[in-house]
Amino acid sequence: MNIREKYNQAVNEYCAMTPEASKLFQEAKKTLPGGETRSAAYMYPYPLYIEKASGTKLFDVDGNEYTDFINNYTSMLHGHAHPAIEAGIIGALGKGTGVTAVLPEQIELSKVLCDRVPGMDQLRFCNSGTEATMFAIRTARLFRNRDKIVKMEGGYHGTSDSVEYNCCTPKLDNGKTFHSEPVPACGGIPDAVGESLIFAPFNDLNAMENILKKQADEIAAVIVEPLLGLVGFITPKPGYLKGLRELTEKYGVLLIFDEVQSFRLSKGGVQEIEGIIPDLTAMAKIIGGGLPVGAFGGKADIMKVFTGGLDAKLSHSGTFNGCRPVMAAGLAAMELYGTDQVQRLNNMGDRLAEGINKCIAKHALPASLSHWGSLLHIHFVEKVPANYQESISSNKLLNNLLHLEMIKRGLYIAPRGSWALSTAMTQKDIEFAVKTVDECFGEIKPYF
Ligand code: PMP
Repeated sequence: MNIREKYNQAVNEYCAMTPEASKLFQEAKKTLPGGETRSAAYMYPYPLYIEKASGTKLFDVDGNEYTDFINNYTSMLHGHAHPAIEAGIIGALGKGTGVTAVLPEQIELSKVLCDRVPGMDQLRFCNSGTEATMFAIRTARLFRNRDKIVKMEGGYHGTSDSVEYNCCTPKLDNGKTFHSEPVPACGGIPDAVGESLIFAPFNDLNAMENILKKQADEIAAVIVEPLLGLVGFITPKPGYLKGLRELTEKYGVLLIFDEVQSFRLSKGGVQEIEGIIPDLTAMAKIIGGGLPVGAFGGKADIMKVFTGGLDAKLSHSGTFNGCRPVMAAGLAAMELYGTDQVQRLNNMGDRLAEGINKCIAKHALPASLSHWGSLLHIHFVEKVPANYQESISSNKLLNNLLHLEMIKRGLYIAPRGSWALSTAMTQKDIEFAVKTVDECFGEIKPYF
């Protein structure tokens, strides 16, 4: 059997265990193009259709049970339907969900976050990570009075036109280490937007210095995820993020940390771990306790551009900014995530990483694991990648096959191969995951 035949077999097995999902897929396609409403949830032949989620478990419409190892792309930090978060949301519902005014809960959550995150003196709430990075970028452009933004190849900052460039560019085979020309992630994004972006390879301070040396007077900010999420939790080399801070300071350019996913790695995000004060920070996901949320903020002298309401230098509206149930859920989620819980979650991630690395060695697979705390990604390249180009595998089908083999065994990770643990997990879940990875590696080994 070749890999295509093996993959088709796994697809057939998936279809056999999900007949109701298959029916729902047909139904969904009538009103939801593609049968889903979120490209990242899609997988071939059709996505999971989930009836209920509770704690560490997902229950699909066919009665199958999965341990959830992606937790809504990192946002369900405490697992699903956590009683304290649920209680917070229910309490908020009784007080009305949205008003055109300020809510005490907004002040409370902003205090909690500004206390935790070193670079956040002040912040503003919005409704998604996309909005958070979009407004952080707008703030930087206004504050520096320059248009250009530097972003990493493979960096992902949400779905706004301003950043959906050079996220999943093709593999280069011409000796170059990154794409320097703008490549929109999809159609419909104006070419003109790409002209305001400059691209850099992650983990390469020389390349960054070359860009800043030449063009600093046109550049408002460098935006960076402390670890590249979309392309597989690629971690920074020691000193890289500090180096970025030094270079941006040296050349008078703002530094924006996109901590939408990385915030969970400590009480105050990666900036706390690394002792770095970025000028602006974007956050989302866990700060809303599982509800839609975003926040961006930074140094008080920058954030003062928002004072003055509609007459501020930069006005910032949004009907649902700081919506009461979201604030309440966020407060409960943060309350549950003290130093001990952060440590416990990161330790569980380390144990899982150790187990997966042992499986890679045991099966002698040309694969590697990117990992930081509770975030993990198995790459089908031999060396742990240091940038996006190094992460591109020539065999994408292997990832899809591994994903289906895990689903068959009741383990759910992101279709693109990422893992994010939740505090609802215990050592038993880690043992289950390692055992399942071991079995799955045995199954896919002949097809490398
Ligand atoms: N930035 C990063 C680093 C992200 O991972 C994401 C979402 N995965 C976003 C921004 C966008 O967040 P949202 O999906 O809430 O718009």
